[in-house]
Amino acid sequence: MEYDREKIWKSVMEGMKVAVSMGTFNTVIKKTELMAIKESGDRLICEVGCTSGLNMAMLDQRFYGQLAAELERVTGKKCEIRFVATMSTSEHKLPEELGPLFDKPKKDGGWKKVRLKENYTFENFAVGVSNQMAYAAAQAVVKRPGDAYNPLFIYGGVGVGKTHLMEAIGHALLEKGEDRMLFCSAEEFTNDLVEGIKNKSTERVRGKYRNVKLLMIDDVQFIAGRVTVQEEFFHTFNSLVGEGGQIVMTSDRPPAEINKLEERLRSRFGAGMVVDVGPADLELRTAILLIKAKQRGMELPMEAARVIAESVEGLRELEGFLVRLLGEVEMKKEVVSVEMVERLLKIAHHNNGQARKITPNEIMNLVGNYFGVGLGQLKGDRRMKNIVWPRQILMYLLRTDLKLPQEEVGRLVGGRDHTTVIHATGKVTRMMLDDEAINKQIGDIRRKLWVSS
Ligand code: ADP
Ligand code: MG
Repeated sequence: MEYDREKIWKSVMEGMKVAVSMGTFNTVIKKTELMAIKESGDRLICEVGCTSGLNMAMLDQRFYGQLAAELERVTGKKCEIRFVATMSTSEHKLPEELGPLFDKPKKDGGWKKVRLKENYTFENFAVGVSNQMAYAAAQAVVKRPGDAYNPLFIYGGVGVGKTHLMEAIGHALLEKGEDRMLFCSAEEFTNDLVEGIKNKSTERVRGKYRNVKLLMIDDVQFIAGRVTVQEEFFHTFNSLVGEGGQIVMTSDRPPAEINKLEERLRSRFGAGMVVDVGPADLELRTAILLIKAKQRGMELPMEAARVIAESVEGLRELEGFLVRLLGEVEMKKEVVSVEMVERLLKIAHHNNGQARKITPNEIMNLVGNYFGVGLGQLKGDRRMKNIVWPRQILMYLLRTDLKLPQEEVGRLVGGRDHTTVIHATGKVTRMMLDDEAINKQIGDIRRKLWVSS
């Protein structure tokens, strides 16, 4: 079914106008637009564009419910809202959009433009069997950008180090004095383009992506299926490579397996060097742990690192564990020992061996009781802060502690979309990193869950 987005949004805005103060309306609500409507089962996913990260955060936290209600009134269907950025990509980022990282991007001009993560360097990159090919290819690109390995296409599963490696290329070229580079996610590229078309400033957007020596596109699989974006990317690709520029891309799968990718792009993606990064083995995980611990200024004995690496497999989980360990060290004022690590691992690794099995229901009840929020509210749609936060923690715990798939977590918590689950777990993870009190709070809930009884 075709929806008249402009008409719908106009009507939504009229509804909002009477619901909020004039000031709020003019500064926040009015600066939005309905960018897309997608049908998903019996509901509509509405992409609402916002002009700044701050507005996006305000809209999401304070006006989600009202906007959704207005949309439902106008369309007669259940609506979910996705807020998307329509601003120029590098400014006004929400913290959520910067990725799950310890470090924050530097503030000064050049770095800000490029937006590389400070720690994602070759120096901080450990090389093992699973990534040595990709590492060598990345090094070759640094030596001779725009030459043989063009484009460099790095693919692999979640959290294996693709983004780190790609940004390392950027860092290395920066060090060589080349700062005409751009790092963006495929999503940012898309948003930028949509914005450009809307403002009739496609030329400016084109210039931005074409006048660089190195273009890094993260998670490029996301441009598949979007006709205009692929078309534009194709031309960007040709123009940049024609001028001797280098392109590096990451993806969760090889070009041949990206669905709905235009054939001509598929062949371009595969025309340079395609390398995969596999899951890290024990040696590599240990090495990465030592690097990460050092970055955080933490004394981690080799022996302890080994014990952790033996029982935690994913690199992101390794980081998560390291953060927990750091919390423990600060709380107990002890140095890290193998015993401490084993104690924490026992809590984390309840499932192997004799430890009792915890059910999703137990977690729901615990979180509900802890925050004094009913199960109905946790599963419901209300967007009040005192409900949303426990709900996000609930999703986080179901996902990380019970290792339930995203879809399953979404289903358990009131039939939510898996992207909502991703957002929630990402947010909680970052909040734990940023906010000591929250870190303690979640540690507390975890202890109640795993240690007592
Ligand atoms: P991907 O993009 O493949 O999902 P990331 O690049 O985000 O993965 O890596 C996940 C985390 O693991 C990051 O913190 C990254 O620094 C770390 N990491 C991955 N591989 C390595 C490595 N070889 N050496 C050091 N850290 C690594
Ligand atoms: Mg990545």
